[in-house]
Amino acid sequence: MLELVEEDIASLVEGLNFKQKVDRSLALIASAWQEFGDSLVVANSLGKDSVAVWHLAKQVSPAIRGFIVTTRFKPPETVRFMHEQVARYPELKVFHNDQAIPDRLYETEPDRCCDLLKVAPTRRAIEEMGVRCWVTGLRCTEGRTRVDFREVEQRDQGLLKLNPILIWHEREVWQYLALNKVDVNPLYAQGYRSLGCSPCTRITTDPNERAGRWTGTSKCGGECGIHTRPLKA
Ligand code: SF4
Repeated sequence: MLELVEEDIASLVEGLNFKQKVDRSLALIASAWQEFGDSLVVANSLGKDSVAVWHLAKQVSPAIRGFIVTTRFKPPETVRFMHEQVARYPELKVFHNDQAIPDRLYETEPDRCCDLLKVAPTRRAIEEMGVRCWVTGLRCTEGRTRVDFREVEQRDQGLLKLNPILIWHEREVWQYLALNKVDVNPLYAQGYRSLGCSPCTRITTDPNERAGRWTGTSKCGGECGIHTRPLKA
């Protein structure tokens, strides 16, 4: 049974070794799968953290389902990678919002653009797939906006959020992907460290992993909203 316990996340980040973190992540997913069964669903953004969580989940049970939220602004490399992943895992469902929006909304109102194109389809995925526990690839070491999350969270009534690799370092994600020969989005080979929509994602040399997201806007290094906004009515 998953519990909303208060743990010293910072000491877990530095105190556990790679193998202990992998075992802890698998145990968290296994426990949630036992409790929620088919209403446990993995949110797969197609980034390195998501494909690591997806690989972990598939070790717990090949039956675990997932969803991808895509937008009209995703880079072609990400779209191709998405098609490859969906062909390999038909239990990954794709959600998007194709409604008309103002031109260059990502420049004028990036929060609203993300709300319409990312948060709204995520809400729809959670409703249509009957999700009671959603599993994410969120990590507390990714940047300033991610330090206060917990491994098990209850932000919305009736919807548990599981962040099974919350305490992993970026290096440990790559270590896991390399050791398990997991395919990754080819954009990483170009130098990106955090992937999003084309207009809002840059290659940077900034030490902050998410520094290339929404550069030049008030949202720089920030969040699209799926981890901060309510997802259930
Ligand atoms: S990342 Fe940019 S283009 Fe994509 S939904 Fe958000 S603001 Fe719009």
